[in-house]
Amino acid sequence: MRMTGHGLQDEGAAYSSIHCTEGPCKKQVTVKRLTPGGTGGEGHALCECGELSGHLETGNARDRWHKGHKTELAKKPA
Ligand SMILES: [Zn+2]
Ligand SMILES: [Zn+2]
Repeated sequence: MRMTGHGLQDEGAAYSSIHCTEGPCKKQVTVKRLTPGGTGGEGHALCECGELSGHLETGNARDRWHKGHKTELAKKPA
């Protein structure tokens, strides 16, 4: 399922969150990609709309988060 304006950035690559204090996020002061060139490792999924997931361990977990995110959006009128 594709939704306009809600693409998963870089196929679920890990991003840091400025509000997160876990692992690689701790020292980050901006939302940035943690693993250039790959989608593995821990971090946050970033949706095109700007929404960040919670701190997740794997790219697969981020992919699942994004599916859930779109499911939530589909339920409520824009
Ligand atoms: Zn979104
Ligand atoms: Zn984090």
